[in-house]
Amino acid sequence: MTAPRIPFLRPRPARLSRMVAELEAIEASGIFSNHGPVSRRFEASLTERWFGGRGGSLAVNNATIGLMLAIRDAAMPGPRRRYALMPSFTFAATAHAAIWAGLTPLLCDIDERTWAADAAAEDELLRRHADEIACVVPHACFGNAIDLERYARLASELGVGVVVDAAAGLGSTGAAGDPFGAGFRHAIVYSMHATKTFATAEGGVIHTGDPDRLARLRAMSDFGFGEARSATMPGLNAKLSEIGALLALAKLDDLDRVVEHRGRLVECYRDALDGFGFQQPTGTRQAHQFAAVVLPQGLGERRAEIAARLEARGIGTRHYFSPHLAQQPYFGEVCETGPLDVTDRVASHILSLPLSDEMTPEEVEVVAAALLSVVQEVA
Ligand SMILES: *Cc1c(COP(=O)(O)O)cnc(C)c1O
Repeated sequence: MTAPRIPFLRPRPARLSRMVAELEAIEASGIFSNHGPVSRRFEASLTERWFGGRGGSLAVNNATIGLMLAIRDAAMPGPRRRYALMPSFTFAATAHAAIWAGLTPLLCDIDERTWAADAAAEDELLRRHADEIACVVPHACFGNAIDLERYARLASELGVGVVVDAAAGLGSTGAAGDPFGAGFRHAIVYSMHATKTFATAEGGVIHTGDPDRLARLRAMSDFGFGEARSATMPGLNAKLSEIGALLALAKLDDLDRVVEHRGRLVECYRDALDGFGFQQPTGTRQAHQFAAVVLPQGLGERRAEIAARLEARGIGTRHYFSPHLAQQPYFGEVCETGPLDVTDRVASHILSLPLSDEMTPEEVEVVAAALLSVVQEVA
């Protein structure tokens, strides 16, 4: 089989092979991990250059472990507090992290337009399980902004913990044009996996405007060592290597250009794909990982065939997040769920289309034309 002409993703981390001097400096320092100088420099640069000097940032080895730490830290204690409230329309990592933190995911429905957790669905579950929810874990779906004020309010009114999964959202801006998540008092977790817009190899960031929380999470990420080599709290090893930090530091230079380019490509998809559903943007700029479209009603059952026909034309696709969490065997067994009508409808029709830093508007035209013609063929 020949390789696809337009692959689903083309990861483009900074060129490590071009950073010989920086790698030699790491070797000369003798420090390869343990929150070393490159990692600290990355955290400081990210906070300054991206978050406008607000809050603080902790580099971690991936977002999943970052979520585990942050949920473990934020979860409200209490014998009956066993749930982590989250949407079912998210990546497996969100639920896994809550489970590793000792909680049971309680899965709620999403908003039809923004694909984030539906506020009414959350409120209903928060009412029904008033003293059983330890943490709320909203998901900034596909890098879209969510209403952080609302979650800060829930935390202060109900006493629940809040951790935001914004894995794909490093580079997105909020409704007021501010960097999404900047200075948020609770923890917000971003991924720097090769497939995200902020691409490295493996890596993640926990950002928070609460310095005490940041200090706790830093100690937790280093075996819970609140004192020299002595655990004073729960911990694990979540440290980003110095080489990982070098890749992250270099990607920072590229961030604006990459996010804007991807945004323009998604606009091209919107223009070309009349009759398809798109996510309603809630911020002023979205760090798109790929282009998500909702197939016209009734075509959900033909999705596999549509994808196969696109593949035959050399176009790679996926379908995030379908199956959604409640539809996956393990989560179906261990999670609890509220009504998921909207999630079922959106997930069954979702199709993720190619996007990358180097993709051109002409390639978007090719993908869109192929999709329109394939949809005609199978309808
Ligand atoms: C990618 C992703 C993660 C996991 O990030 P890693 O850095 O690969 O661990 C978690 N949640 C969501 C929503 C994601 O898209």
